[in-house]
Amino acid sequence: MPRPHCARCQRPEGHCLCALIPQLPSQTRVLILQHPSETAHALNTARLAALGLANSELMVAEQVAPSLWQAGAARTCVLFPGEGATPLAPSEEPLQLLVLDGTWRKARKLLHLNPELAALPRVSLPAPQPSRYRLRKAPAEGALSTIEAIVQALEILEAPASFQALLAPFEALIEGQIRAMGEDTYKRNHQV
Ligand SMILES: [Zn+2]
Repeated sequence: MPRPHCARCQRPEGHCLCALIPQLPSQTRVLILQHPSETAHALNTARLAALGLANSELMVAEQVAPSLWQAGAARTCVLFPGEGATPLAPSEEPLQLLVLDGTWRKARKLLHLNPELAALPRVSLPAPQPSRYRLRKAPAEGALSTIEAIVQALEILEAPASFQALLAPFEALIEGQIRAMGEDTYKRNHQV
């Protein structure tokens, strides 16, 4: 029988991260679009980001209606690197930042399936910083987890505000995964 999970952070009982999840305010509205195949991933950092930011929303879908981002008054940009993307800079006017969660391939698929979304102006992070996400294979050198990318983007847009507190449950999640991996390795090497 599967162990019961926390209804909020969806971590298994005894591994709930809710106590570490902040309620951070931001000027920027953060909309996270997650491909349905990403939801079951053990390291679902998009969910942690959405829970920790008061002004954010997580949608799990392959296709979304433009009304989703047109409802707000703020200008919407998609956080996605590549040609035509403007490097993020501090913004006077509040922005709505649309973030695509998942692997590079999944994010590209979401753009392909949502032409109106693909037509939105794109912004990108400056030269990538090393990720603390050591467990999940990065699709490219310097690739960040969704929650790290959001923290970096918000710290640029709303400088000098800090959003490091958002990473607390993520750090705990990684430490827990490393410990679990250590135990597995231990069991493999010490089986009688
Ligand atoms: Zn929880």
